[in-house]
Amino acid sequence: MTNLVVMGECMVEFSPLAEGEYKQSFAGDVYNTAVYLKRLLANASNVSFLTAVGKDCLSQQMLQALQQEKINGEFVEQLQHQQIGAYLIETSAEGERSFVYWRDSSAAKSTLSFLSEASKKKLISQTDTFYFSGISLAILNPLDRQLFWQLLDQLKSADVHIVFDSNYRAKLWQNRDEAKSQFKQAFRYSDVIFAGVEDFELLYGFGAFDAIEQHLAPFEIDEIIIKNGANNMMCIAKGESCIIAVAAVKNVVDTTSAGDSFNAGYLAAKQMGYSLPAAVEYAAKIAAIVIQHHGAIVANDKFEQLAKQINIPSM
Ligand code: ADP
Repeated sequence: MTNLVVMGECMVEFSPLAEGEYKQSFAGDVYNTAVYLKRLLANASNVSFLTAVGKDCLSQQMLQALQQEKINGEFVEQLQHQQIGAYLIETSAEGERSFVYWRDSSAAKSTLSFLSEASKKKLISQTDTFYFSGISLAILNPLDRQLFWQLLDQLKSADVHIVFDSNYRAKLWQNRDEAKSQFKQAFRYSDVIFAGVEDFELLYGFGAFDAIEQHLAPFEIDEIIIKNGANNMMCIAKGESCIIAVAAVKNVVDTTSAGDSFNAGYLAAKQMGYSLPAAVEYAAKIAAIVIQHHGAIVANDKFEQLAKQINIPSM
């Protein structure tokens, strides 16, 4: 059985049901990836979440959500007098979604400060793949960033496969230079990079495939998957690049977590032995299921049923 560790923040989500009424659930970029990864890999993999939460009832409910999704919570530290972050989704009369966040003091910001030595040791010795994102980095307190890079260094020395998603949220960084320097570190350590065209446009001011390829060329990255929503993707592995078309999806309802579920699909497919293009195709099918539904996480029974309908193999 392989061990995958996903690091970052999961928040409580309030999505509108009717005027003044909200449905409560849990979501966050890397959490979404962890959920779909575990659903696809089932007993073939142990998927763990590395974060920190509080001891309040919402934190408790989040731990239960992890348990329901069969995600290992042993690396989730519970901090006294702290809380998890939250966000609320507003939909305008025109159907445009906007988000209000309360995450400035969430427990996840100090994940590394509170990771015990014993947990850290275990994590380093048993992890096969470690997954994090630009958001996982952005939210960390300064001390935790330092500790994070120390951990990554140790993971790299232990030959752990490092995977990074370029998710860039300008509001979470002091300025672009800060984000650029952290991303550079991430590129240095990563074996696999999921790069979003939009992220690169916002952060570096370029989003063309060849510009992204050139930017990442100096780093020793085994696989680069450049995503661009409904448009073609570019994949680069062992110096060879190829363009892969994205199959059209007729009924796009909500693209929240398209990238997160795509990444889960890709990593699951690679683990099942797929070639890179076949893994991309598989991942796009998973994302297609997710974007035909509201919210980041499709209910498990529905997800299983749809995956079966389109003959998506899982473990
Ligand atoms: P990110 O959230 O990382 O920016 P993207 O929006 O690029 O991710 O989407 C990730 C993947 O989800 C795409 O590569 C594609 O496979 C699928 N996808 C996203 N939006 C659409 C869409 N409108 N139609 C079809 N597939 C889509």
